[in-house]
Amino acid sequence: MRAVRKAKGSSKATRRAPSRGDAQKAKIYAWEDSHSSLTCFNRLGLWECEALVESACVMAGIKPPRVTVHYQAEMSYSQTASEEDSVISLQGWSEINGYRGGGMNEVICLHEVAHTIQAIQRPRTSDHGPIFAGIYAKLLLDFAVFDPEELEAEWLRFGIRWRR
Ligand SMILES: [Zn+2]
Repeated sequence: MRAVRKAKGSSKATRRAPSRGDAQKAKIYAWEDSHSSLTCFNRLGLWECEALVESACVMAGIKPPRVTVHYQAEMSYSQTASEEDSVISLQGWSEINGYRGGGMNEVICLHEVAHTIQAIQRPRTSDHGPIFAGIYAKLLLDFAVFDPEELEAEWLRFGIRWRR
């Protein structure tokens, strides 16, 4: 019943060596799915998502992306061509296995903005690798979505590696 996201291909994707892969993506998705009430449903309005993304970007020192919503089954995604040309599109509505899901929530906004920050500040790193995960973890903790001990224990259990 996942109602969530993916990072769409960007210019950095084509530059990445095939061997780098995206080995950690499934683990991060699995962890997010273990919190489906937080990650697979709409909990915020668009302006709240925009405010959260903007705050995260101000803290990271980058220009916030445009935030939009799409109303179809496609998962939430981020696309960053440059700091001036960046968008996060959140899944506003989707019927999945009888559930009305969506990506307008804190966790998915922070997942996507972590991709934006990564694309601008660490463009040659793997999509869901340890650098991404470190950015993502910092956001989840800075915005108090999870407690540090809880997050660390869960990520260790799911085999997620992150750069602190
Ligand atoms: Zn992602």
